[in-house]
Order: sequence, then C-alpha cells, then structure tokens
Amino acid sequence: MERSALEQLQLKRLQATVRRLAKCVPFYQQKLAERGIKPGDIKSLADVRRLPFTTSADLRATYPKGMVTLKDGQLSRLHTSSGTTGKPKALFFSRKDVDNAAELMARCLTMAGVTHLDVFQNMMTYGLFTGALVMHYGAEKVGCLVIPSGPGNTEKQLLLMQDFRSTALHITPSYALYFAGYLESKGIDPRRDLALSKAFVGAEPYTEETRRKIETLLGVDVYNSYGLSEMNGPGVAFECEHKHGMHLWEDNFILEIIDPHTGEPLADGARGELVLTTLCREAMPILRYRTRDITSVIPEPCPCGRTHRRLNRIAGRTDDMLIVRGVNIYPQQIEQILMSLPQVGRNYLILLDGLDEMTVKVELAEAGFDGQVEHLVSLQNEIVSRLRAEILTKPKIDLVPPGTLPVSEGKARRVIDNRKL
Ligand code: AMP
Ligand code: ZN
Repeated sequence: MERSALEQLQLKRLQATVRRLAKCVPFYQQKLAERGIKPGDIKSLADVRRLPFTTSADLRATYPKGMVTLKDGQLSRLHTSSGTTGKPKALFFSRKDVDNAAELMARCLTMAGVTHLDVFQNMMTYGLFTGALVMHYGAEKVGCLVIPSGPGNTEKQLLLMQDFRSTALHITPSYALYFAGYLESKGIDPRRDLALSKAFVGAEPYTEETRRKIETLLGVDVYNSYGLSEMNGPGVAFECEHKHGMHLWEDNFILEIIDPHTGEPLADGARGELVLTTLCREAMPILRYRTRDITSVIPEPCPCGRTHRRLNRIAGRTDDMLIVRGVNIYPQQIEQILMSLPQVGRNYLILLDGLDEMTVKVELAEAGFDGQVEHLVSLQNEIVSRLRAEILTKPKIDLVPPGTLPVSEGKARRVIDNRKL
C-alpha cells in the first residue's frame, strides 16, 4: 500500500477506535474528558498525540474487565501477561480479534518465506502466555503442519524434529542456544541430520551476535519476531527476507517513538520508547500503550518494497536498565560483547551484589577450554577490558563450564540483583 493510502486507513481506524472507547470504556471516557477531547476532534493522524497514554499500571488497575468493550458472551479468548509484580494484566480477544491476530501472524510467516510445505515446531510456552498460541494459529493459517511441542523436554523435541522433519522453529533465543548445545552433546549436526531451515526467534531481547550464533549452530536463517500480549502477542513486527529491521504492521497499529522521560515524540531514526495504538481490535482496543521497549525506526525504505516502517532490534526495556555505579547499562550491551567471542558458550548471568558489585558468570564454549589455565585468564582479561570499554565499569568475570547456568523454559532471567543500596 502507498504511504498516503496507508495513512488514510490509519486515520479512519483511529477515529473508529476512539469513538468505540469513548462509548464503552469508563477509563478512557474519563481520560478523554480530562483532556477535553471528543472523538470528533481526531481529524488527522497527528492528533494521536493529543490522546492519553495507557500504561501497564492502567491495565492492572482496570483488571479484570475494565478495558473491555464487549458484553459477556461476545468474548472468545483470555490471555494474561504476568510481568514481575502484582496483579496480572488480562487481555481479551473477540472471535474477530483471534482471527485477525492469526492473520497478522500468517502475514509475518509468509513474508519470511514460510509455506504450506513447512513443518512448524512451536517450541514456545502454551497457556496463558500469548507467544505459542498466536503463532500456532498463524502457522496453521499459512497451512503448515504445526507441532505444538511447547518448550522443554529437549530429548522429545529432537525426536519430533527428526521423525517429522521439522523445517521451521519458533523458539526463544535462550532455548535455541541451549538446544544447540544439546545437539552438539548428542553428536548431531543439524545441517546433515535435520531438515531445519528457518527459526523465528523472539519473546526476549537478544543481539545480532546471538542471532549469528544461533544461525551457525542450528544451520537456520533466524528471523526476529516481536510482539507483546497487550498488542495481541507475536505478529506485531517481523523481519522480511532482508533480515534488517522488523516491519511493523501499521495498518493495525499506530507507531510512535517517544522520549521515555518527557513523553515527547521523536523523529524516525532516534532511539526511544515504542508506543503503540491498536487500530483493529474489537474486544480491547488500547490507545498509546507505553511498551517500555527501547528501539528506533529505520528511516530508509526497505529494499523489499513494503511500506510498513521497520523497527530496529529492541535494545532493551526501560525497566531492564541497570544502574551500576551511576552508569546506565542494558544487559544486551554485555551480551553483545560476550557472544562475539568464539570461546564463549551459550549462556551468561549478571549478578549484582553488595554495594554495586557486578559479577558476570559466563559459560565457556564446548571447545573453549584446552586445559591451559593461562588461556582462561587471558579470556577473562579480554572480557573485562572489552566490557569496561562498553559499560564503563569493571565487572568480575566467572568462567563456568558449558551447560551449568540455569536455563528457563520461558523468558530468560539474565540479571539477579541482590544489591542492598
Ligand atoms: P509478553 O507480553 O509476555 O509477550 O512480553 C512482551 C515483551 O517481550 C515485549 O514488550 C518485549 O520486551 C519482549 N520481546 C518480545 N519479542 C521481542 C524481540 N524480538 N526482541 C526483544 N524483546 C522482545
Ligand atoms: Zn523488508
């Protein structure tokens, strides 16, 4: 779609969304009234900035059904997003919303070259979490044979992969790396012994270095997949064949990047917090959701010709940012350095203790240790000096044997903060 037609469509859908919320949701009625805005005041896309933000706290405060626009009997599915503290967020889908989420997901997969000939092993957590189910419905819509294996049970995963010749995987970056280690320990060469060709990797931040590692170890093309429960789950933004930034489906979402401190909009190219407004949701439309994800829009058009703008890889979350000795650090800065070193294995953990003491536990690669202690010491020193240049603080590095750090089935826990500050 040409940008001008896309923007016209966005405006029409935004107006309908605001009308719907002003009619049905007391939370938004009050917010709009506070700003003196009536649905008829939304005359251009720029007017989105006059609308109120919605935060994670707002969704918790209106739990369980305060944001719903439909009556009981018209709802079709409930997902929750737990986050770390307090009440969960309840996210409702109508029949049409379920179908639309699947449609967007199918659009993503088709863009990445998936067809009805693919065997799709879905290694994400099924259940209240949106990750697995929305992807499952999307892959079915494309016509794939879907294997709902869920995460974990690695031995069985491999058996399924071998016996049914899985070609596409949906997996978290941390489980992908763990799985690669398992294959190695079993003497399985994915290029020789398996039929894998693509992996859709998301649900948590990871770096370009980790993508390359997964691609090398599993012999697949890795496509970055971004989404969040508040916006349907996966299928919000996805990489095309160029694997350079994720097209965000702007016919379904209005995309803004804001300065997380002032709330002011930032231009394409500038890094800030992603804010999304749903345009097609029926059961639970959300205005200007503060995702807390830090990214930027790639200003150039994509060589693939799609007009939906691309997001850069998520650099972290505003709430993941660590402040260590006064310096702002994102775990991804540490990951980027670790994963670029061939002697480093697949997992790491950041520990914060006492008064701002940082220790990074780093798994060695299987072939990373030749028995010579001086090689360990020089690797340790190299990691320290590279981290120091990047994060301006000098952590302690503990090198540990492959496969000894905890692996989670869902999202990885990269930081343990026991500081008494
Ligand atoms: P949930 O609502 O539980 O599905 O979690 C959504 C959150 O997971 C997002 O807000 C991001 O912080 C994170 N996330 C999902 N996909 C990605 C991705 N491809 N890269 C980085 N972070 C991601
Ligand atoms: Zn593209």
